[in-house]
Amino acid sequence: MVKTKTNNRIFLSSPHMSGEEIKYVNEAFESNWIAPLGPNVDAFERELASYVGVNEAVALSSGTAAIHLALILLGVEKGDTVFCSTLTFVASANPIRYQGAEPVFIDSEPDTWNMSPEALEKAFREANLNNTLPKAVIIVNLYGQSAKMDELVPICRKYNVPIIEDAAESLGSTYKGKASGSLGDFGVFSFNGNKIITTSGGGMLVSNHASQLQTARYLATQARDPAPHYQHSQTGYNYRLSNVLAGIGRGQLEVLDSRILARRRIFRTYEENLSDLPGVQFMPELENTFSNRWLSALTINELESGVSIKELLFALEEENIEARPVWKPLHLQPLFQNNKYYSHYDVESISNKLFYSGICLPSGSNMTFENQMRVIKCIKNKIINNK
Ligand SMILES: *Cc1c(COP(=O)(O)O)cnc(C)c1O
Repeated sequence: MVKTKTNNRIFLSSPHMSGEEIKYVNEAFESNWIAPLGPNVDAFERELASYVGVNEAVALSSGTAAIHLALILLGVEKGDTVFCSTLTFVASANPIRYQGAEPVFIDSEPDTWNMSPEALEKAFREANLNNTLPKAVIIVNLYGQSAKMDELVPICRKYNVPIIEDAAESLGSTYKGKASGSLGDFGVFSFNGNKIITTSGGGMLVSNHASQLQTARYLATQARDPAPHYQHSQTGYNYRLSNVLAGIGRGQLEVLDSRILARRRIFRTYEENLSDLPGVQFMPELENTFSNRWLSALTINELESGVSIKELLFALEEENIEARPVWKPLHLQPLFQNNKYYSHYDVESISNKLFYSGICLPSGSNMTFENQMRVIKCIKNKIINNK
């Protein structure tokens, strides 16, 4: 029997405009600043840098472009390696390949689901012995949760290797009072449509190295040398954010804090209603960190709950609810099948385990309480009836 979907679809994380954005977009129209530069771009950069507490920010066409430029600034080139969190979206690692370099993947640890200091140390020791130290380390803050920076940073410093903090999912989160994205040499944000705030598409590269970011700005605008004619001495890119989209970003930044509160409330409601179910465990929040809870993530032990992730995703889809498995670790992707991987324990990979048992639930800040209750009811029914 074909079941007709009468309920409205609940999305994983859909854009949530405040109404403030249009003011800045109108300004762009009225002044005819429709170019990929202009007053909204400058203001968005200043406002975001001030929010994050860094010296400089460069607005770009995507978070992926921001990672790419950071790698270029750090001199990553053909034949190099870059260490990278394995439990992440493919965009964290793709730009390594753009440079002709290869990623080496580092496992998660259980407390944050982020890069394991133990696995990182192992990877560094081995690379050091073989004289193949990486040019950079990309540390991802998954679903808004910061990685264990106080453990990870000293390891990278010991080997004198710079850090790119991929904070695409963690804008507004903090680690021991410091803003996510400000803890490495470079920080990366994304304003893609599904992120906590959005410009429909866009990104930002931030750093306290102001002169480096000046170079990023130059590379992102086709590397035009100062000259009256078109003069180029380096390969450039067309990576700047448009002044229209930066206007959306300014309006979104004004409501970021309320978006974070909404996502945290959604997480708490899931936790209050589902954490007593057998085999259900929510993504932790490390002590002294504050997560924006971009996505509400949890793991489900199939033996205890009687339900696999696949069955649960199917049941949710039947109710017209969009949910997703946790990111598939990059070391398990066909794209990277020949790349090196260092796991947290010698006999067990934490990221594999999180992938096989992890699920992300609808978390949009514009989701109604009634809709969240639909999600909760569906999961409860599935786990209790399958027991
Ligand atoms: C979204 C995302 C990116 C890429 O950002 P885009 O703006 O979509 O290019 C990079 N890393 C992580 C962890 C992400 O979630």
